[in-house]
Amino acid sequence: MAASEYTTLTPVLSGKESDSGSLDCFICECCNVQYAPAKAPPPGDCPVCADERQFVKPGGQAWTTLSKLSGSHRNSFLRMEPHIMAIGTEPKSGIGQWRCW
Ligand SMILES: [Zn+2]
Repeated sequence: MAASEYTTLTPVLSGKESDSGSLDCFICECCNVQYAPAKAPPPGDCPVCADERQFVKPGGQAWTTLSKLSGSHRNSFLRMEPHIMAIGTEPKSGIGQWRCW
């Protein structure tokens, strides 16, 4: 499938659990983008990682879910400056990005 075929996938920014017990939000293990609740992982590669500027790991596309990550990872907050905070996931997940605000 071409990357353009995945444009209907909607990344979500919140980590809320799905409304239905049978749905889960799948997360790309490479870039950590989370997608809308579904019964199964998105087909094919993650659209972000399938972009020519990104990459899919040599082992191929891998997916996880927020519920799986919550058992082994936690979010940490770090004060960078008096008015700048950062949030990141530990241990590192995906590319290990931190967000500042
Ligand atoms: Zn990805």
